[in-house]
This record gives sequence, C-alpha cells and structure tokens, in this order.
Amino acid sequence: MFLTGKRALVTGSTSGIGLATARALRAEGAEVILNGFGDAGEIAKLQEELDGAEYFGTDLTDVAAIEAMMAEAGQIDILVNNAGMQHVSPVEDFPVDKWDLIMALNLSAAFHCTRLAVPGMKAKGWGRIINTASAHSKVASPFKSAYNAAKHGLDGFTKTIALELAEFGITANCVSPGYVWTPLVENQIPDTMKARGLSREEVINDVLLVKQATKKFVQPAEIGAVVTFLCRDEAQNVNGANWSVDGGWTAE
Ligand code: NAD
Repeated sequence: MFLTGKRALVTGSTSGIGLATARALRAEGAEVILNGFGDAGEIAKLQEELDGAEYFGTDLTDVAAIEAMMAEAGQIDILVNNAGMQHVSPVEDFPVDKWDLIMALNLSAAFHCTRLAVPGMKAKGWGRIINTASAHSKVASPFKSAYNAAKHGLDGFTKTIALELAEFGITANCVSPGYVWTPLVENQIPDTMKARGLSREEVINDVLLVKQATKKFVQPAEIGAVVTFLCRDEAQNVNGANWSVDGGWTAE
C-alpha cells in the first residue's frame, strides 16, 4: 500500500477509465476524491466502496466551479486529469458549442486543476500529475477535429509542466489509451455510422478495432495499473512521457 497518506483527485471518475483508476489508486492506499456526473444513488455506492471517498459533482467546463472544488478539496498529491468527452462530425458541420465544450473539458480543465493543485505539491516536494490523453494525442482520425486538437494540446501541456515542475519532485505524464469499451466509445458509434455510412458492426470492427493490432478493446483497469505505476518512487524519472496503452495502434 505504497500510496497510504496520499490524496488523489481523479476527474471524471464516476465511470469508465476514471473509475477504474480511482479503484486502482485506492487499492494502493490513496485517499481518493471522485468527480463526475451520474445517478446520486450509484455515486453514493461508489463513495462507500472506496471507503468514504469525497465526491465533487463539479462541471469541469465551468472555471469558477473548478476553483471552488479545488479550494474545498485542499491538498492534492496525485492529480489525474481524466474527464473527457467526444463528438463525431465532419468539420464543416461540427457544432461550435460542442467544439468549445470539448476544448473546455478535455484541455482547459486539466490546466485549471493543475494550476490550482501545483502550489500544494510544491510545498510538499512531491506530486504526480497524470493526464488521460489518447492515441488521438499522437495520431488523428477523421471527424474528431475537436477531440484530436484537444488531446494533442494536452500532450503539449503535459510536456511543458513536466519541464517546469521536475525540480520540485513533481512529475507530469500522459497515459494514452486506444479504444476502451466505455460509454464514451459506445456513444460515438451512431454518429460514426452516420459520418462514414457504415453499420454498427462495421464501425466496431473496421473503424475501432482495426486500429489495434491486438484486435481487442483495452480494459479500463489496464489504464489504472499504468497510472498507479507512475505514482511509484521508481517512476520518479518518468517525466513528460506519453505512455501508449493502445494494443499497438500508434506503433504503425
Ligand atoms: P466515460 O464517458 O466512461 O467517463 C467520462 C467521465 O467524465 C464520467 O465520469 C463523466 O461523468 C465525466 N464528465 C463528463 N463531462 C464532465 C464535465 N463537464 N465535468 C466533470 N466531469 C465530466 O469515458 P471514458 O472512456 O472513461 O473516458 C475517460 C477519459 O479517457 C477521457 O478523457 C477520454 O477522452 C479518454 N479516452 C478514452 C478512450 C476510450 O476508448 N474510452 C480512449 C482514449 C482516451
């Protein structure tokens, strides 16, 4: 339990990858703080499962709300900027409000949470900032202009803070999943069918899994395992990296 005594905020942790990451960090003893949307009863169950985890239903597209959350949360030793969303559309039809929302959630929220967590990490001389990026932080797919732009931006942001914060005992890295079977992936199937004129089966096999040499979806717990490793002292020199967990997608 090498994370006993550490406080970990995982954004977007009521579902999918964030929830698996919160579970993995808790299993190593971290005090976990949850964030995200969902059914109140389900979230209460998660809080109980994670030994009384604190929960913030903060909308991370709202800067003032992020500031209030971070002030109330207090010391954060491990910050996992994970909350994210997707929208699939040809660029000329891409809804402007969706572009702004994706930039705010997938990129700017990581900046805001980071700037507010860093003073406490510097004061302690230890910190871990781990950003859930994506294979789409390294390569693009059509019809995901906002997502690809935000995730490439997140990679650049991570490298920058890795350089700025290294001498304070703080590391910053991206973990970049390929396709993980979560609501985020499931929900993009209808729009992908429309944008590409394909059936559901064709989207799954010829658009999603075709990218991954393993021909398998990544499991959320596999991302949690990498995040947990990055929190170890043995990972103190893993800094500014963008660690792929994509079945070989970006090796091509
Ligand atoms: P998910 O839809 O299962 O979970 C998203 C989480 O973010 C939920 O907890 C949701 O409540 C929360 N959220 C959504 N909007 C929010 C907002 N405005 N404010 C606060 N929280 C909000 O998705 P997931 O697949 O687990 O995705 C998590 C991260 O992993 C995202 O950044 C996503 O881009 C990234 N990712 C996912 C995949 C994949 O294949 N699923 C691949 C690469 C990267």
